Amino acid sequence: MTTPVIVMCNQKGGVGKTTTTFHLLDAVRRQRHDIRVLAVDLDPQGNLSTILSRGTRDSADACLADALSDRSSCSLIDVVNETIWPNVHLAPTSPDTEALAYVRDELVLAGAGRERRLRDALDPLLPAYDLVLMDCPPSLDLLTINALVAARSAVVVSQSALFSANGLVRLRRTIDAVKRSYNPELHLRGAIINLHERNTIAGREQLAEIASTIELVGDPIPKRVVLKDASEAQTSLLDWGTTDARNLAALYRNTAALLMGDPNNATS
Ligand code: ADP
Ligand code: MG
Repeated sequence: MTTPVIVMCNQKGGVGKTTTTFHLLDAVRRQRHDIRVLAVDLDPQGNLSTILSRGTRDSADACLADALSDRSSCSLIDVVNETIWPNVHLAPTSPDTEALAYVRDELVLAGAGRERRLRDALDPLLPAYDLVLMDCPPSLDLLTINALVAARSAVVVSQSALFSANGLVRLRRTIDAVKRSYNPELHLRGAIINLHERNTIAGREQLAEIASTIELVGDPIPKRVVLKDASEAQTSLLDWGTTDARNLAALYRNTAALLMGDPNNATS
């Protein structure tokens, strides 16, 4: 079976790509203890790397930028690290936020094949993993394009109040262009709605409008401080011990099952 390679994207920042990726990774690794997951942090800000990494990170350590740059002979396997969770590995961003940003600039000037660097680096590793989940920067730059070229499915993460039909049109155009030119397998799976206000009329209206534009993957994720606290404290929602955290964990579990195409573990 081919390994699902899923990219979490939205050219807007602050919509919850990284937080959603973190809790989905937790949901997936809890669902199947023997699963082997690779997380790829394509955001120069490195937030996913910060919340997944064990111990302190050093800007001298090899990181994703080294595997993508033509100035380095590193392959992706050389930069993959263990994380706070045994069955989740990470291709990390350097704590030096300029490192991956520099590679992005390098890609702008690079010639043919610059959009396939990640795909070429990732392909040999796919047999070792059951799932690859990629977190993107808040832009449609060459790092995001590399993620879309390497992926099989794209998932838009969006805040319901900030969802923009125009933003989605632009993202869809980019996905269609990548599909046409570089990656015919790429499929826009749908949207995960984050920071949803289910108790307001505006929140419900926004959701209905979004659902008429794009397929929703799982139930919308509400705004809850515990989602921020748990990721920043590098802990699972299930270790948090409250009913609310448990219900949120169930929500991510369901969304993860839908993404993994596992109907036995999904309820919608
Ligand atoms: P992005 O990766 O799209 O830039 P983040 O995942 O970093 O967005 O989220 C932006 C901020 O919002 C972070 O501080 C995060 O902890 C917080 N956040 C994200 N989703 C939620 C949520 N559902 N409830 C509460 N806070 C959230
Ligand atoms: Mg982020």
